[in-house]
Amino acid sequence: MIEMSEVSKTYPNGVVAVNSFNVKIKQGEFVYVVGPSGSGKTTFIKMMYREEKPTTGSITVNGINLSKIRNTKVPLFRRNLGVVFQDFKLLPTLTVYENVAFAMEVIEKHPVEIKRRVMEVLDLVGLKHKVRMLPDELSGGEQQRVSIARSIVNSPKVVIADEPTGNLDPETSWEIMNTLEEINKRDTTIVMATHNKDIVNNLKHRVIAIENGRIVRDEQRGEYGYEI
Ligand code: ADP
Ligand code: ADP
Repeated sequence: MIEMSEVSKTYPNGVVAVNSFNVKIKQGEFVYVVGPSGSGKTTFIKMMYREEKPTTGSITVNGINLSKIRNTKVPLFRRNLGVVFQDFKLLPTLTVYENVAFAMEVIEKHPVEIKRRVMEVLDLVGLKHKVRMLPDELSGGEQQRVSIARSIVNSPKVVIADEPTGNLDPETSWEIMNTLEEINKRDTTIVMATHNKDIVNNLKHRVIAIENGRIVRDEQRGEYGYEI
């Protein structure tokens, strides 16, 4: 489902952020990406949704070879992906409902279907009662749940999350994990970069550890393996 073959990424300044990655992630897997700051986690993840291109090697996501798609086709490719960020990236002037609906409006879904599906995903993340609120009227955890609702509204096969609990307190982080777990149970692949040792060691999944641009561990039901 996600496959990288001999993938390397050197930034224009000469930094080798990712060095010879060979990775296969199957449909429905839940994968944590761990490692020290600056080790290459974000670069690895950004290449999956084609925010960065590899310098060498090939990447296939949902059967699409990313080196073969034109820039104009990137939005089309991303429709089968959901992306969740540490800082939520919600549109501040739109309500909860509108933030989630927006992702369906841009692909011109029927208004009746939009309404049904937006309420369905907001119910899934437990925010049906806050549809009319603006992002800054919500707690951090609620904002992240809106961003997760937005990421799954078009039923992607893969959700990619870069430190989704990075700005949240431990209890709220666990709520977010329960939501991601629920999404994963519906056969959505989850790839999540994280520094959260408690979560990785207690909610066991595959762990890919990166250090200095190299994969140093790849274990089913792995451990976090670092002190912080
Ligand atoms: P992590 O997510 O593990 O903190 P990153 O993938 O963000 O790691 O960064 C890996 C390395 O690449 C770091 O040395 C970082 O400074 C460098 N890097 C990241 N993005 C860029 C960029 N756009 N230009 C140049 N260097 C970058
Ligand atoms: P920035 O301004 O920091 O680049 P963006 O909000 O533009 O941040 O998001 C970074 C990239 O991720 C953009 O290319 C955008 O198209 C993409 N992106 C943002 N949200 C989503 C999403 N929910 N699903 C897929 N791709 C997204």
